[in-house]
Parts: sequence; structure tokens; C-alpha cells
Amino acid sequence: MRSEPSFIQLPPELGNQFESDWLLHAWLEAELPEALWRAERPLLEEIGARAGGEWYALQQADRLNEPRLTQWSPWGARIDHIELTPLWQRAKSWAAEYGLVAAGYDAGLAEHARTVQFARAWLFIPSTDFYGCPLAMTDGAARVLQDAGNAALAARALPKLLARSGDAFWTSGQWMTETIGGSDVSRSETVARRDDDGQWRLHGRKWFTSAATSEMALTLARPEGGADGSRGLALFYVEPHDADGRLQQIEILRLKDKLGTRKLPTAELLLDGTPAEPVAGLERGVAAIAPVLNLTRTWNAITACSLMRRGLALAESYARRRSAFGRLLIELPLHRRTLALLEADFAAASAATWAMIRELGRIEHGHRQAQPKLQRLLTPVIKLGTARDAIAVTSEVLECFGGAGYVEDTGLPQLLRDVQVLSIWEGTTNVLALDLLRVIEADGLAPWHEAMQARIAGWTDPEFSALAETAIAALDQTVGDFERAAATAQANARALALNVYRVTALVELCDLGARGSRLEQSQAARVLDVARRYARLRFRLEPIDPGDDESWAGESNGKSWNSKS
Ligand SMILES: Cc1cc2nc3c(=O)[nH]c(=O)nc-3n(C[C@H](O)[C@H](O)[C@H](O)COP(=O)(O)OP(=O)(O)OC[C@H]3O[C@@H](n4cnc5c(N)ncnc54)[C@H](O)[C@@H]3O)c2cc1C
Repeated sequence: MRSEPSFIQLPPELGNQFESDWLLHAWLEAELPEALWRAERPLLEEIGARAGGEWYALQQADRLNEPRLTQWSPWGARIDHIELTPLWQRAKSWAAEYGLVAAGYDAGLAEHARTVQFARAWLFIPSTDFYGCPLAMTDGAARVLQDAGNAALAARALPKLLARSGDAFWTSGQWMTETIGGSDVSRSETVARRDDDGQWRLHGRKWFTSAATSEMALTLARPEGGADGSRGLALFYVEPHDADGRLQQIEILRLKDKLGTRKLPTAELLLDGTPAEPVAGLERGVAAIAPVLNLTRTWNAITACSLMRRGLALAESYARRRSAFGRLLIELPLHRRTLALLEADFAAASAATWAMIRELGRIEHGHRQAQPKLQRLLTPVIKLGTARDAIAVTSEVLECFGGAGYVEDTGLPQLLRDVQVLSIWEGTTNVLALDLLRVIEADGLAPWHEAMQARIAGWTDPEFSALAETAIAALDQTVGDFERAAATAQANARALALNVYRVTALVELCDLGARGSRLEQSQAARVLDVARRYARLRFRLEPIDPGDDESWAGESNGKSWNSKS
């Protein structure tokens, strides 16, 4: 007789991912004009139902699939064809049809275009295995082509990047990183040469190119004879394939064997005379591609928060279905507290992110309240903070499943592997923290300080007074710390950036609750509750140390520790 356990654990379930998302509801209700909110809701309901139903099922069925590179035809021709996974093949049409890029450019939505676009993306991203990555780069490319003043390229590519059907829709890659550097591209080795017939051609090796199947790409190359350093790099437009679908003097050397994001084909490319068009002159390409980075960092933050939300939704569902010591996990005070703290981190990160998106929409539409200096300061900070929160929250989410969280066919380990990338690409934590220092050097911390103070001053509800005290004290301490550590600003940049991030997150979360009049009463109470929890139990400032660690010797300081000399 075989003896089998009689108990079979029920897996976590996802329902409609829009309906169950109290924070997204609260933000949109507070932010969007009533008519727009009413008009947008049915579409969000639809995306939410697919995200928690059909797409989630497809994602689970697709779990073991990966993109495949075939370099040679059976008859010896070099073809370098990438076959995407079934989920990814379909995700392109869904993204186009729901306007996941186009909505951000919908003039009819005015300053709310970005909020609407990212609300849809928020629901889409966690069920489509990082298809948000090509969308982020596509969004960035659309912004660049819209603003660069190159009418021919804009006419050629923009309608495709903003198309709302899968057949017409193009995605864009962003090929910056070379072996010599991703954070520091100033010594990039790709060269641009001009043919006798005037055609520019690129020669070089691009070391990380995600979404290698995209129909266009923006890339950096140094026009032959150009200046050294980043000043001599120009921004080029490339269409990797010709009209017959053949790669244009590009070899795909290999697909990266990555820790996570394994559906995303990230390739190493050899450019061997690839035809290209300069986008905006023959130098200052790094400045020209900066709008792409601002947008990909924004997408990174939305991805971080929406993946935290996915992890929490799964963990909460599991807690309602799994029991230990005679009670459901959700009834055990310590497990409840664990989930409640994760929710507080998620909510604070999300409030900061949504506030950044509101600001982006205002800036792009010349709104009278737009604050470009604030946005310049907050974009790197919110990217780095949300990425780090996503890694910490997702790690804890896995623990909420016990052993099941460590087992591949639950789909949970993939969550953790995937989020790890969020702190690396589009600027590592340190690189973004240094970006913050550059912004402070130009504008000081005043734009941020004033904006945060203005929010706090608007909280009239007495419930918020204790939270306001915490926020003001933290705000003042951050500014004071920065001034005290000015001489060692580089060494303290990461701590400073995290502190700016956390204060912003606290203030924006409270600010959402303080706008109670726009929220249903139960929503306002929930925001207040989670804001209190964040302030009391999660909020902390990193220590700023005026030392600069120059004495740190590392493992050996060039010598063996055992060395007698
Ligand atoms: C999955 C994946 C997909 C990618 N897709 C693309 C893509 O599509 N296009 C593209 O262009 N790139 C892409 N990248 C590359 C990515 O953007 C770079 O890896 C990233 O910018 C870091 O650059 P690096 O690898 O050269 O690291 P390095 O710059 O060598 O950094 C190494 C370490 O040094 C630290 N560091 C660097 N400079 C400083 C400093 N001044 N002070 C203090 N610390 C510092 C960094 O924080 C990091 O910890 C991708 C990467 C991954 C992992």
C-alpha cells in the first residue's frame, strides 16, 4: 500500500488585479478628474481581469520557455534569428492595443496622460515577464524623436512607436553599454564612418542590448575623428533589419545567460557597417539620449512597485489558504505583522512613484504647477529607492511561502531573480546617487525641500500632525546631514539618496491620505493607517558618516594579509 499525504495545499490565487488594488484606486481617484476616472475604469477592469486570469495562466504555462537564438540556417547561411517565447510573442499586441506607450502621448489626456498610461502598465507588467523593458525603451525613443527636431526620422518612426495595433507597432532598443563601460560610456569604442554616398555606418560591439528583436534602436557611436570622451559621441538611429527582415550588417554573437529576466532576449551585437542616421548632430549624444534614461528610470520604478504588489497579492492569498499551528496564516499576529510591514514599504514606494509620474505629465504639458528641477532630482532617487525596496520586499515575500517560495515550479523564485536587475540596469544605486549630487550641485536641495514642505503645510487633518512632525524632522535632518558631510559628499551619496527617497515616500503617502476629500472614506482611512505604520515602524534614515573610508584597505591593499613585509 502506498502511503500518500491526504493534504494537498491550495496554491495562491489572483483575482482581478485592478479590483483588488486599493492603492491604485486611491491614487487614481485622488488624481484624475472625475470624468476621466469614470471613462478609464472599464479598461482598467479589463486589463486587471486579464492580468490576474488569462495572462497569469499563460505566464505560468510559459515558465520554462526562453528565447532561442539560431545563428545558422541548415544550409550554412548566417541568419541570427531570435525566437521569442509564446507569451512574449503575444505581449506585443496587447501592449499596442492597450496603448501602453501611445497613451502617454495622447494629447487629449493632457497632463494626466502619464498617469493613465502607467496605470495600465502597472497592471500589465507583472503578468508579462518584463515585456515592460522594451516598452520603456520604446517610450524613451518616442520622446527623443518627438523632441529632437529631426523631422524625417520622426515622420518615419513615431507613428510606429505610438501605433495601437500589434502589426503596426514597433519597439525600440537602446544600445549604450559596451564592454568598456555601462555606467561610464565616455570611452565607447563604436565608430561611425561615412560612405562616399553619404551613408553613416557603425562599427563596434554592443555588450548588452535588451529587446534584441526590436524594429529600431537608438545607439551611441563616435563619428570618426570626433572628440574624445562623451562629448565626441553622437546619437544614432538604427533599423536592425532590412525590408526583407535580414539583419543589416549585424551579428548576434550570443544571448546573455542571465540570473533573471530570462524571457527578455539580451544580446551581444557586433556592428560591422550597420547603416545608421544621426538623430541630432554629430556630438553630445549622451545628452541627446538622456530623455530615454529619464523614462526608462520611470518605468523601472513602476515595474519595481507593480512587482512588489504582485508578490504581496500572492502572499496575502496564500496566507488566507495555508494554516499552521491550527490557524490560517492570516490569523497569526506575527505573520499579519510581517505582511503589514511589507505593505507599508510597498505603499510608500508607490506613492513616491505615482507623484513622480504626475510631475512628468505636468512637465510634458507645460502645466502651471510643473517643477522640472524637482523632477530632475527625484527621478534617479525614486528609481534607486524603489529598486532596492522591490528586492527586499520580494525576498521577504518568498519567505512568506516557506519552502514553497524556494521551489521553482511555484513560479515564486523567478520573482526574486527578476527584481534583482532593477537596481543594476538604467543606473546602479551608486551611479544614480552620484547623479543626485550633480543635481544638488546645480540647484541645491531647495526645490525638494520647498516641495515637501508645501505638501506638509497642506495637511489640515489633525490625524496627520504626528506624521507631519516625523516628516519635518527627517526633512531638516537630511538637509543638515548633507551640509555637514559636504566634504565627503561622494562617499555619503548613497545614504543621502536613500534618505531623500524615504522622506519623499513618507510625505507623498501622507499627502495622498491628506487629500481625503477626494477619496472614499474607507480608502482615506486605509491610506492613513498604512502611512502611520510606515512612519512608526518602517521609516528610518541612513547614518551619514563624515569619514570617507579612504583608509579602507579591502582584502589586501595590494599585499597579502599574511605578508611579513
Ligand atoms: C539584464 C540586463 C539588460 C541590460 N540591457 C541593456 C540594454 O538594453 N542597453 C544597454 O545599453 N545596457 C543594458 N544593460 C547594461 C546595464 O545598463 C549596465 O550593466 C549598467 O549600466 C552598469 O554598467 P556596467 O555593467 O558597466 O557596470 P560598472 O559601471 O562597471 O559598475 C560596476 C560597479 O561599480 C559601481 N560604480 C561605477 N561607477 C561608480 C562611481 N563613479 N562611484 C561609485 N561606484 C561606481 C557600480 O555601482 C557597480 O556597483 C543591461 C544590463 C542587464 C543586467
